[in-house]
Amino acid sequence: TVVITFDDGYDNVFENAHPILTEYDYPYAVFVNPDLLEAHPSAYMSWQELKTIDAEGATIVNHGQTHAHLIRRKDNESEAQWQARMKQDVVSAQQAIDAQLGEQPKYFAYPYGEYSPALEKLLKDWGFKGFAQHSGAWSQWSPTTAIPRFPASGRYANLETLAVKLNSLPMPVTHYTPADPLVSHSETRPTVTVELSKTEGMNTNALRCFAGSDVLEPHWDSEMQFSVTPKNDIPMGRSRINCTAPSTSGGYHWFSVALIRPDSQGNWPD
Ligand SMILES: [Zn+2]
Repeated sequence: TVVITFDDGYDNVFENAHPILTEYDYPYAVFVNPDLLEAHPSAYMSWQELKTIDAEGATIVNHGQTHAHLIRRKDNESEAQWQARMKQDVVSAQQAIDAQLGEQPKYFAYPYGEYSPALEKLLKDWGFKGFAQHSGAWSQWSPTTAIPRFPASGRYANLETLAVKLNSLPMPVTHYTPADPLVSHSETRPTVTVELSKTEGMNTNALRCFAGSDVLEPHWDSEMQFSVTPKNDIPMGRSRINCTAPSTSGGYHWFSVALIRPDSQGNWPD
């Protein structure tokens, strides 16, 4: 099964994707920012356009009110203040969407794909599923608050590599670290440790991880657990370490760990 999603609700989804998806009768989801689409009508789909595609089989879901870097704390912001700000951004956006389109599923795509265990817990408490931007096949092993997605736009708009991704298989990961993508500024080469629930069907000898263009050979801590450490400093801001292992029946088992490394001031680029 493949799920097609678009973040941001740009007008070009209505112009370019909507006619093709309607022709093929493919369902899809569009994650929107209510504040932004009302403030910038030339860039984003209007509520009326969203109603049109909703009636034709799209699902309109939540990308936050303002597309903020949600996990980035403000100076002197208490935990309670941060939680209230998150509620304002996530729950008020859902109310705006439901008011315009009738009750929609509580699916939230993290702006910039940035999440943290604290934000995952809030989403879970509020009954949301969370969609991230690290890659991998969605499976029973994916946390429902950090669902992986493969990018297919920009430099990833390549049908050959997309075909490999669409045919990917999940990696049966039960536990991994760091669970919080936000590492400290000084953690230039964070070690990623991954614990598997089984290895059947996977050619673990050929398991490799990728950090940027570097290929990382895993160190097997035990039969079911491996670790990798980047050979070079990870970039400032968002990056990923992707791990793949050939399946004995073709295709790749795929697992990705999201990382965010802030600058010394706690910020990072959009
Ligand atoms: Zn976005």
